[in-house]
Amino acid sequence: MIVRAPRVRLADPNLVLQSMASSTDPSPLSPDAPCPCGRGPRYADCCGRYHAGPLHLLAPDPESLMRSRYSAFVLDLRDYLMATWHPDHRPDAIGPPEAGLRWLGLEVKSVRLNGPDAGEVSFVARSKLDGRAHRLVERSAFVREGGRWLYTRALDAA
Ligand SMILES: [Zn+2]
Repeated sequence: MIVRAPRVRLADPNLVLQSMASSTDPSPLSPDAPCPCGRGPRYADCCGRYHAGPLHLLAPDPESLMRSRYSAFVLDLRDYLMATWHPDHRPDAIGPPEAGLRWLGLEVKSVRLNGPDAGEVSFVARSKLDGRAHRLVERSAFVREGGRWLYTRALDAA
């Protein structure tokens, strides 16, 4: 008896190439541009270090990781957001940002380390959509696993 494998539907190769090209764009922002997170005068010396290059995914502390994730939201670096989100907590996929959404700034309110491999960052992220201002107030939890800091989840507001 011959068992036939189910027919595999191949995706349109052009679509695959396009999505790969957009997700691996190495220069989402000029290296000399101010960092979206507001800390570094140069993107390349601030969050850009962790988005690509030798320090890719190696933000050294919870605040740096939180800032780099904010900048990744601004620059729509969804691969980075997924890679820095703890696998037990992250969604299956991150959808595209809402059309017209503009991030306006980040303010880190407090940082707390709970031992060498856990921490919390409280922040306010401001954005605008359809002329309406939004404030995201969050206390985020982070853990370090295998030498890398990862975002786990939002805690109750402090
Ligand atoms: Zn930054």
